[in-house]
Amino acid sequence: MRRDTATGGPPSAAEEPVADATTGSSGRETPNEIRPSARLVSHTPEPETAVALAARLCYSKSGLAEVVAGLTEAETASFIDKLREAGHLSPFEHASFQFYIEGSRAMLAQLTRHRIASYSVQSMRYVAPGRPEYVVPPLVRRDEARLAVYRAQMDQAFAAYHDLLARGVPAEDARMVLGQGVATRLVCTFNARSLHNFFRLRCCRRAQWEIRQIAYQMRREVRRVAPALFSDAGPACESLGHCTEGRFSCGRHRFLGRIGPAPAGNS
Ligand SMILES: Cc1cc2nc3c(=O)[nH]c(=O)nc-3n(C[C@H](O)[C@H](O)[C@H](O)COP(=O)(O)OP(=O)(O)OC[C@H]3O[C@@H](n4cnc5c(N)ncnc54)[C@H](O)[C@@H]3O)c2cc1C
Repeated sequence: MRRDTATGGPPSAAEEPVADATTGSSGRETPNEIRPSARLVSHTPEPETAVALAARLCYSKSGLAEVVAGLTEAETASFIDKLREAGHLSPFEHASFQFYIEGSRAMLAQLTRHRIASYSVQSMRYVAPGRPEYVVPPLVRRDEARLAVYRAQMDQAFAAYHDLLARGVPAEDARMVLGQGVATRLVCTFNARSLHNFFRLRCCRRAQWEIRQIAYQMRREVRRVAPALFSDAGPACESLGHCTEGRFSCGRHRFLGRIGPAPAGNS
């Protein structure tokens, strides 16, 4: 896997203000309101070549040397287009993308439903936040009264959490009082085929705002390093040209049908 230096690589320790459960923190420090984010940490070197090479081998009489010879950028892009048209998507599995993600536990529950991926999640048994860390939904943030209620509830939950820790309750049990908005950090790795499925489901307007925001950030990241692989990635209305949400459809596919597909940078 190639480490992605354009995004600064993995986060520095300074960006991860996490204290150990045993530090005796009161939990009454200034809250850290986490903005959900995703960034590419590393990926298969030349991901598009990896896919085209695998696909070309399927149709070649000889071995690797001939398959690799003369595989130009244009040919690679053309191969990828043909695979997509034919629905021959297994070569897409040869390119992998690793992300660092911050967000809420509610987001984590949805993300990890995507089984064709690998996850490593910050442990709430071994790592306890030294101060309240949580995500604030935009519909709460935009209204002062809502925000006050939300913050008060978070403060109370984190105070109870630290009280329980101080009374000798292990972190694995004390965490139960924290809500779904509590922050989490994780690293996950998807292959390109699974990412297409993920973008189809989670870039859709029907998806919950936080996972949708994460999905669009992931799409922006992978398009930067593999534009041909992900040029058509997105909600069903963009990638398939029709909606798969039945009676829950927002109707965007009809709008797209009139004006053409959304621009590649849409997010
Ligand atoms: C808008 C929205 C609302 C949702 N609401 C709910 C909800 O109310 N309740 C709920 O429980 N979930 C809900 N989900 C989650 C959803 O049902 C999927 O679990 C989730 O999106 C993961 O999708 P996936 O299975 O395609 O992904 P992956 O697990 O990554 O699987 C990728 C693909 O591999 C194949 N595959 C994987 N595992 C198997 C298997 N065991 N057998 C056969 N084929 C397999 C399938 O083709 C699948 O599409 C919702 C998702 C969205 C986007």
